[in-house]
Amino acid sequence: MNAHTTRIEPPRLGEPYLLTPGPLTTSYAVKEAMLKDWGSWDGDFRAMTRDMRSRLVAMLGDGSEDFDCVPMQGSGTFSVEAMLASFLPRDGKALVLANGAYGMRAAQTLEYLGRDFTLLDKGDYLPPRGYEVAQILAEDPAISHVVAIHCETSSGILNPVEEISEVVYAAGRKLLIDSMSAFGAIPLEVSKVRYEAMVSSANKCIEGVPGFGFIIAKKDELEAAKGNSHSMSLDVHAQWAHMNKTGQWRFTPPTHVVAAFLEALRAHEVEGGVAGRGRRYTRNRDVMVSGMRELGFETLLDNRWLSPIIVTFFCPVDPNFVFDRFYELMKEKGFIIYPGKLTAVDSFRVGCIGQMDEHIMRQVVTAASETLAEMGVASALPPAAALEERAKLAS
Ligand SMILES: *Cc1c(COP(=O)(O)O)cnc(C)c1O
Repeated sequence: MNAHTTRIEPPRLGEPYLLTPGPLTTSYAVKEAMLKDWGSWDGDFRAMTRDMRSRLVAMLGDGSEDFDCVPMQGSGTFSVEAMLASFLPRDGKALVLANGAYGMRAAQTLEYLGRDFTLLDKGDYLPPRGYEVAQILAEDPAISHVVAIHCETSSGILNPVEEISEVVYAAGRKLLIDSMSAFGAIPLEVSKVRYEAMVSSANKCIEGVPGFGFIIAKKDELEAAKGNSHSMSLDVHAQWAHMNKTGQWRFTPPTHVVAAFLEALRAHEVEGGVAGRGRRYTRNRDVMVSGMRELGFETLLDNRWLSPIIVTFFCPVDPNFVFDRFYELMKEKGFIIYPGKLTAVDSFRVGCIGQMDEHIMRQVVTAASETLAEMGVASALPPAAALEERAKLAS
């Protein structure tokens, strides 16, 4: 066991566990931190904003003093849009690496912004590899920035960002990372992975409630971002400059969400920071995946690509298996699972993040086993087509 054993409390009032990648199950202390009103201009709230920003930057490890954190109102997508619009100059060109919904959303955002981009679309889950990126960059000197998704939450794949970063900087380009669902549980230390900016949000691995995202970027990139943004409210440079000058957010901040997030950051530190959080989630995944495999379920991905964030399983081929019913019966047992997002075969997802530990993950497996029995599903084996699909990963 690690030195920092966190106490995991069951959700109150018979709430189900959210086995979803955010919003997720939060602690009672996090919810309780919202039972107070804060004045946005007041010194106490400004101190909270300052504390939050410096705690987040510190999570980048050695070399983090070259970076600063800019919180941004809205859900995570607002921060992704803010990052793309602020750091990609209007005459720049992006290479978007997509293997799922969030990569495609980044590309769609650039379309809205009217910024030039090339898309490497690997389909539902195949990882973009360094050699492919290097080749595209060599062929297109106009590309100035590469946009990568750290954990592509739609399949749960952990993309090889170190490998991608190496080829991006070897080619003299810049990297922007959507680490929304990974940051706080999977290291993104600037001494190990080079990048200019990354984004995440309050309601993923830090285990806060939804309401804002944050951009962590090199200070010289923040300086240079002036005038790039198409948007007044999503201008990262303007928010940064205003916050550094006044200590305040430019527009009404989500005060209660920030208070809850600070509580979540304290718990994150007590758990042992990124390493401790990552250990618990990894254990959650390992216990859950091995239990589900014992029931006959198969994961979409090989162990090599499985993230400790969320795992995609194929739906069983047995005609008695109907996802909507599986979902309802799991919910009755206290667990909200997540539908799949693959285009070719039916699937569902189970999240490993939030206020849950391995004991709860064992209960999830038990609930799945009982649910299969209630539905009269004899075997959870997937259809042959699913396994053929998966074989693509190995080739
Ligand atoms: C959650 C998430 C987002 C943002 O989604 P919102 O619904 O806007 O919070 C972006 N990228 C990834 C990879 C995510 O997991």
